[in-house]
Amino acid sequence: MSEELKKPATVFFVGSGPGDPELITVKGMRLLKDADLVVYAGSLVRERVLDFCKGSPEVYNSASMSLPEIVSVMIEAAKAGKKVVRLHTGDPSLYGALREQAEALEKEGIPYSIVPGVSSAFASAAAIKRELTLPGVTQTVIFTRLEGRTPVPEQERLSRLAAHGATICIFLSISMMDEVVSELSSGYAPDTPVAVVYRASWEDELAIKGTLADIAAKVREAGITRQAMIIVGRAIGDVSVEQSRLYDPGFTHGFRK
Ligand code: SAH
Repeated sequence: MSEELKKPATVFFVGSGPGDPELITVKGMRLLKDADLVVYAGSLVRERVLDFCKGSPEVYNSASMSLPEIVSVMIEAAKAGKKVVRLHTGDPSLYGALREQAEALEKEGIPYSIVPGVSSAFASAAAIKRELTLPGVTQTVIFTRLEGRTPVPEQERLSRLAAHGATICIFLSISMMDEVVSELSSGYAPDTPVAVVYRASWEDELAIKGTLADIAAKVREAGITRQAMIIVGRAIGDVSVEQSRLYDPGFTHGFRK
């Protein structure tokens, strides 16, 4: 087959997990092992996952690159038949600017595939040893953020989401803690449990628990201004748990008659 007709290689967008290198998927790890070129977001993706690479791939830190630069590096490599891995922090489907990269690849006819990862929302729930959905409390989890440079639609303002009383995981907003608290106060009582987890799953992970009334002061005191998840809602408090239907002896389901 002539060079011109050679099919481009598939680009893999891989969720690298929240920080602990062991929290990448087996598939993600395998793809890194064989990668010829890796693009990662230096600020949040732990460089330690790059230790999974067996060869010595070309490595690009996307933190200092623009979107056109990132995609052109990936496109050229894929066209040359190289195995490209684009690492995303947590899961690629949340706040990852995935779509714009994927669309750029589509335009060039480059095939791609997405490998999910463990979101920091879940690593944070693990850090505080809490279940985000709790029978009798809430069966809903909301992923959201405060407006920054990226606008948030008016009907999704935190103050409006607060009306549901669900568990809310707030990304990208720790530097605006006072605003988070004031928006949430329109729907949650001052004694509503709030947890802030800094660098969930890293060696220096720090989890702070408080209430809507005191969490902002606690976060300030701890000096946390970035890389943190805010989780709000009664499910993460010390409520006594109503037994789940799933394991209720009187409840039959497909696997237990
Ligand atoms: N796709 C990622 C989120 C990217 S947005 C995911 O699924 O986790 C970046 C935001 O995610 C940060 O501002 C912070 O709110 C959160 N975040 C990422 N890694 C984190 C970690 N290890 N601990 C706590 N929050 C984290």
